[in-house]
Amino acid sequence: MVVGESGLGKSTLAGKELTTDTPSTVEIQAISADIEENGFGDFINNEECWSPILENIEARFDAFLDQENRVNRKRIVDTRVHACLYFIAPTGHALKPIDVEFMKKLAGRVNLIPVIAKSDTMTEEELKNFKQRILNDISAHKINIYQPPTYENDDPETIQENKEIVSRIPFAVVGADRDIDVGAGRKIRGRKYPWGIIEVDNEDHCDFVKLRQMLIRTHMEELKEFTNEVLYESYRTKKLAELGA
Ligand code: GDP
Ligand code: MG
Repeated sequence: MVVGESGLGKSTLAGKELTTDTPSTVEIQAISADIEENGFGDFINNEECWSPILENIEARFDAFLDQENRVNRKRIVDTRVHACLYFIAPTGHALKPIDVEFMKKLAGRVNLIPVIAKSDTMTEEELKNFKQRILNDISAHKINIYQPPTYENDDPETIQENKEIVSRIPFAVVGADRDIDVGAGRKIRGRKYPWGIIEVDNEDHCDFVKLRQMLIRTHMEELKEFTNEVLYESYRTKKLAELGA
């Protein structure tokens, strides 16, 4: 699921980049199907604009719970949200109050992954400071974002890979809706400026590669496990207690 204010590049990013280069498309398609519903910020009053998104996440838990309660549980279809990319505007300031509220509401129900939208609009140093500021805000407001876990028994290579992913959070992303022809038959996904090209798939230019690696390769199972064993379980327990009362 992709969430964030209108105009931050959600459709551009998730519509294309996440769906290409994807071995298992099922989950990813579910991501793109949700994108349009989850923009906000177009109304003067944004109070409780997180509510339909939370309802969407919980409705998917309900659908799963219904299936689990059926007599025949062989063909359970999992449409739960296993990752939620939260788009933060590249303001260079702090998190906005609406971001804090939104992230707080979603964090207990979904693996929340903060991303800095349109990071090509910030300099390297601005981005570094902004990332730190966001992490400080997240910790000050006790928002439980998704933390890729490290296991002691992992091999050194995996531990290193993990560290590199964690060090990029919140991921600075750039979206591009077309390929740029750079000559010699080479095409690059990126954005073209008078002074050069910012490449989506270049790790020196933005964190998109690391984000995709985490979602699709290194942490997909881990994200699903956390959804099932922690987030869904806590929802289920609450729901059953309410029904019993
Ligand atoms: P959404 O409302 O969040 O879905 O945003 P869109 O994907 O529709 O993008 C809104 C505008 O921002 C479009 O004009 C995009 O071309 C532009 N855009 C998208 N991603 C980026 C980015 O990474 N950097 C810059 N500078 N512009 C972007
Ligand atoms: Mg959109």
